[in-house]
Amino acid sequence: MEIFRTPAEIQAYALSAKRRGKTISLIPTMGYLHAGHASLIDIARQRADIVIVSIFVNPTQFGPNEDLDAYPRDFEHDRTLCEDHKVDAVYAPAPDSMYADDASTWVEETVLSRPLCGASRPIHFRGVTTVVAKLFNLTLPDYAVFGRKDAQQLLVIRRMVRDLNFPIEIIAAPLVRDEDGLALSSRNRYLSAEERKRALVLSRSLRAGRRTIEGGGLETIPTVIELMKKEIEAAGGRVDYVEALDTGSLTAPNADTTELLLAVAAYFGTTRLIDNQFIQVKS
Ligand code: AMP
Repeated sequence: MEIFRTPAEIQAYALSAKRRGKTISLIPTMGYLHAGHASLIDIARQRADIVIVSIFVNPTQFGPNEDLDAYPRDFEHDRTLCEDHKVDAVYAPAPDSMYADDASTWVEETVLSRPLCGASRPIHFRGVTTVVAKLFNLTLPDYAVFGRKDAQQLLVIRRMVRDLNFPIEIIAAPLVRDEDGLALSSRNRYLSAEERKRALVLSRSLRAGRRTIEGGGLETIPTVIELMKKEIEAAGGRVDYVEALDTGSLTAPNADTTELLLAVAAYFGTTRLIDNQFIQVKS
């Protein structure tokens, strides 16, 4: 497995692979890898000759009061996980090699980025789309794998790829959960044992909400949302949002809606967790 630290190195590697006729899959990550990331790597492996994992805690997607400095990092652990999953190349740049001091170009998606996490993290998705566009230019992938854990991110990236004609197939990977239902996340390490137990309300209430909506249709959505908020607060969580939106537009569902995103963000202690369920709507 090769490890690259600068944009020039990884781009030369990718260009050389493409010239030899190889296909490339990219898995963008912020490191501190877990079984969720590993599942994305395994999906990528099935598609392409060469699998590249990027590990970069991207400063431009963190707001001023967010956890950029505290975000967990463990490169040796990440390297071993990547080796175990037969990754060909890891791209782990230093932040100052990714952005020039006077960088002044952004890639911004302006509709799907606004609700949900975009409402409480206004610059987040602009940072994500910019860094992902840069990673696409650096790694020249045929495929890029994104987890449904970050459902809004997946939809925003799909929209960016469509709108800017990137010749890349975006593959959506299933959300991987711990045995008790908690969605795997690098941020789970911030949780105390007590907070972790309380946070199980997220997956539990989402599952129940999904069943209710599947059984009773779109009319049940307001009741489901109210109940979920009450349950999360009763468990000691502080709700940022609970919403059910049409996955095509991330607006309120209507008679044409075929798929819903039931999504939640809530704080347990100081840790902000997100979770979701995609729900097929009967016509
Ligand atoms: P992150 O390192 O948190 O930025 O995540 C990198 C990629 O891994 C994103 O596409 C995430 O959606 C995906 N990912 C993170 N956690 C999970 C999970 N529990 N299940 C599936 N994909 C995940």
